[in-house]
Amino acid sequence: MPAIRCARCGAEGARYHVSFARVSFCDKCYIRYYERKLRSTVLKYGMLKVMRRPLVALSGGKDSTSALVGLKSVFPDLEVTALYIDLGIPGYSEESERVVRKVTEELGVELVVHRLRDEGRTVPELAVGRFRRKPCAICGTVKRYVMNRVALERGHDSVVTGHNLDDTVEVLFELYRRGQLEEAVRLRPVLLGDGVKLANRVKPLFEMTDEEDLYYVDAKGIEVVESWCPLVRGAKTVSRKVLIHEIEAKIPGFRHTFLKAHVKRYLPVLEKVLGQPVLRECAVCGYPTTSEVCSYCRAMRKVVLQRGGEVAGGKATGG
Ligand code: SF4
Ligand code: ZN
Repeated sequence: MPAIRCARCGAEGARYHVSFARVSFCDKCYIRYYERKLRSTVLKYGMLKVMRRPLVALSGGKDSTSALVGLKSVFPDLEVTALYIDLGIPGYSEESERVVRKVTEELGVELVVHRLRDEGRTVPELAVGRFRRKPCAICGTVKRYVMNRVALERGHDSVVTGHNLDDTVEVLFELYRRGQLEEAVRLRPVLLGDGVKLANRVKPLFEMTDEEDLYYVDAKGIEVVESWCPLVRGAKTVSRKVLIHEIEAKIPGFRHTFLKAHVKRYLPVLEKVLGQPVLRECAVCGYPTTSEVCSYCRAMRKVVLQRGGEVAGGKATGG
């Protein structure tokens, strides 16, 4: 079988085949391809204007690592700090922290570690009651809340996450299926905050696939966490991603078309019809929410109640 040639330089032994684009690259040209694409996404959506001092949420996985390494490589002057949230998942959290420390040291990026157990509740402790079967739901709520709070407390204007095209398509697929348009309208590459209680949310990998992120860390020789979170077993997110790949096999380009239709066709209409959500201060913690008590505080309160703790004056205590 003839050796595969790089589409850019023509060298033999092109290891990275970008399947949706049907093109292969050698290591050097793949890095160039990825970083050019990242740069163009950041500029296209005006991300630099809203992330002058970003806090990059780093899990140790391929996506958030690609976001950090990619931003540092393409915009070396950007004042980037990394945030690692220790979720308290035995074994997995320790391994993730080791990998995160290694990559931030290699890049010379400041690392902030936030431990959930210092707030009294780890993710396994929170995944009880109705969250027992869907730990990712409560984990996501906690992570979003902590990222925002840590960013604002430390004076960052934005939180950067590694959400990519595959993540967004998977969530959108479910939101449109259920008609949850108020949530679909928030799925965008940049979500502006108010600068006081809500940091900007920026997704520089919005147009990258899982495959492209995986190739990038591999081509750069960067270690990422290989193991799966033990709580993800049976998660609907995983089976939906598999389903979407099956659709993609039958309808090539499905994911890119779906995302483009969302951004260009649906979002402008949804914005007009739905307007901005009315936010108020959470009665417990004071951070913005659409209900009286934010989902983070509600979850915390439920855990305390389930443990037979006390709820006094609207604040969760005990546990
Ligand atoms: Fe959290 Fe689910 Fe990710 Fe595990 S797989 S870290 S529970 S979101
Ligand atoms: Zn709250």
